[in-house]
Amino acid sequence: MIETIATAESNTELAPGYRLLTLDLAEDVKVSAGQFAMLKPKGSLEPLLRRALAVYRVYGRRRVSFLYQVLGRGTESLAGVEPGGTVEILLPLGNSWPDAVRDNQSVIVVAGGIGSASVFMVCEGLTRSRADAQCCSAQKRTYGGWVWTRRLPRPGTSYNSYHR
Ligand SMILES: Cc1cc2nc3c(=O)[nH]c(=O)nc-3n(C[C@H](O)[C@H](O)[C@H](O)COP(=O)(O)OP(=O)(O)OC[C@H]3O[C@@H](n4cnc5c(N)ncnc54)[C@H](O)[C@@H]3O)c2cc1C
Repeated sequence: MIETIATAESNTELAPGYRLLTLDLAEDVKVSAGQFAMLKPKGSLEPLLRRALAVYRVYGRRRVSFLYQVLGRGTESLAGVEPGGTVEILLPLGNSWPDAVRDNQSVIVVAGGIGSASVFMVCEGLTRSRADAQCCSAQKRTYGGWVWTRRLPRPGTSYNSYHR
């Protein structure tokens, strides 16, 4: 676990009230699927406490992204972070999803709403396994097309999100 300062590469609104925050970390980190971080804008007193967000994706050792819903003070302040802005972050935290699946094992991953953020990496990992995997996300239609909903068609086939 590290406590570090990260620089926002982007903080994009994907649909009203839902954003994708991508951060460049000042230190290397190893994150497993399902783990989360505690974060807030650097130096902010409002909110005083960091908020928990599941790690949505990792890119190498120093780049991570978070899919989040803007609900209240903490997430509103995160929504105000501009590219180049800085964030105080503590990660990785919590347990991870099991990553070992046997060949030809059947796996179904089900997530709902913004909770889908925490299972994206496990679904990505399943595409590299020989498991027969299905990943399903339930969300209100009004959330638009940003949330992925995909049955992995065959073991080992590539998996794409709608918003790379
Ligand atoms: C381990 C963990 C991982 C999480 N991962 C994510 C994530 O990947 N993406 C994400 O968007 N959120 C995630 N959350 C939830 C996120 O931390 C909360 O949405 C956030 O703390 C709300 O803080 P806020 O200051 O914006 O809202 P607050 O000011 O604390 O609350 C604003 C209003 O929203 C309500 N509220 C607060 N949290 C929730 C909630 N989760 N659901 C419904 N109503 C709520 C409150 O009751 C209040 O009415 C995670 C939470 C935990 C514990």
